[in-house]
Formats: sequence, structure tokens, C-alpha cells
Amino acid sequence: MMFTTEDLQRMFAGIAEDIAAESDHLCALDGAIGDGDHGLAMDAGCQAAAKAVGELDPGIAPTTAFNVAAKAFLNAVGASSGPLYATAFMRAGAAAKDKQTLSDDDFLRVFAAMARGIQERGKAEPGEKTMVDAWRPAADAALDARQSGEPLPQCFEAAERAARAGCEATGNMTAAKGRASRLGDRVIGHIDPGAASAVIIIAAMAKFAQH
Ligand code: ADP
Ligand code: MG
Ligand code: MG
Repeated sequence: MMFTTEDLQRMFAGIAEDIAAESDHLCALDGAIGDGDHGLAMDAGCQAAAKAVGELDPGIAPTTAFNVAAKAFLNAVGASSGPLYATAFMRAGAAAKDKQTLSDDDFLRVFAAMARGIQERGKAEPGEKTMVDAWRPAADAALDARQSGEPLPQCFEAAERAARAGCEATGNMTAAKGRASRLGDRVIGHIDPGAASAVIIIAAMAKFAQH
């Protein structure tokens, strides 16, 4: 199927709704190994992005929607997740450049570009107890599934599964990036809040890809 900015308006609204529902839980996770604001930061960023994208002419090019989301997210968030997701949405915009609608393959390219953007902006590798532990395996799983000829919904189901497994795995890791890196072994037994919010976003995108 083909995705338009009108579809992306629904997607950003869905992401914002799911993050809002988990905001307290994300703050609690961040309270254990960070400064406790992750749910508030993600909620503010996602609400701002959904609102800004929602106000666009639904006929405008998807690249513009992603760029508008990036700017809104960055302006709304003071925490480290701000520039990380702003970069993700900017890279999504670049991946969608010059297209009036996005095909399934375009949408997968957008998803992969988001993961790469987060990884490059944060200079984090998998295994460092960050949101990259959800995003990297999710993007890889989606692209692998596509290579095996799977349709888009199945690619995103694979991505969601990989993100959940990656997030779970952060529980056994020490942190090499971000605030939690100062706490040494004390973070073991706690999952990373950024990986947990990444699962929510990826799951919301997977839900969106079913339609
Ligand atoms: P802050 O720590 O500034 O309060 P948030 O609470 O919004 O920011 O986000 C914390 C999350 O950001 C962490 O759980 C981790 O997943 C992610 N994070 C921190 N630093 C990096 C980095 N360099 N690369 C990727 N993700 C990071
Ligand atoms: Mg925090
Ligand atoms: Mg903070």
C-alpha cells in the first residue's frame, strides 16, 4: 500500500497516544537508573510532533511531515532523547525525499533510516544499554524479513519482536552511554527506559503497518 501524510498523521497520533499511556511507567524506569524524566520527555516530544504533523495539509509530501515532526520534537524536549528522536525523524524525512507517497519499501527505508540516525547521533552500539538495543535489532529484523519476501505487516511484526527482545536484554547490561553509565553495576536488573519507549514507538508503527 501507499502511505501519504494523511496516514502519517494517524501514525504520529497513535505513537503519541501509546507513549502517553506509558509515560508514568517510563518515568519510573528512568527513576531507577536515570533522572526520572524519560516518560515526560517522550510524552512532550510525541505530543508536539503529533500536533505539528496533524496541523499540516494532509496532501503535503511525507518528507515535510517527518521534518516538521523532527523540529517539534526537538523544541519540546530538553532531555537526551530530544536530539536522538529529532535526528531519527530528520533521517526519515531524508529517506522520504522527493516522494508524494511512500510504498512499503519506502516505509521500510524510512524505518531503517530512523534506527541509523539514532545510532549515529548517540554514537551508541548495541550492548551499551540504550534505545539502540531496541532500534538496531528491530531495523535489522524488518529488513531481513523483507529480504525473505515477507509483506510489510510481517516485517514490522518481526521488528516489534526483535525490539522487545532487545529491550529485555538491556536488563542484564551495564550502561556505556547516558546517565546510567555513571552507576556501574547498580543498573543491572533494570531495563533501559529509552529501550522501553523505543518498543512502544516501534509497536505503534507495527500497528500502523497492519492497515
Ligand atoms: P536524560 O538522560 O537526558 O534525562 P532521557 O531520560 O529522555 O534523557 O533519555 C534517557 C535514554 O536516552 C536512555 O535510557 C537511553 O536509552 C538513551 N540514551 C542516552 N544516551 C544515549 C546515546 N548516546 N545513544 C543512544 N541512546 C542514548
Ligand atoms: Mg532522563
Ligand atoms: Mg533529564
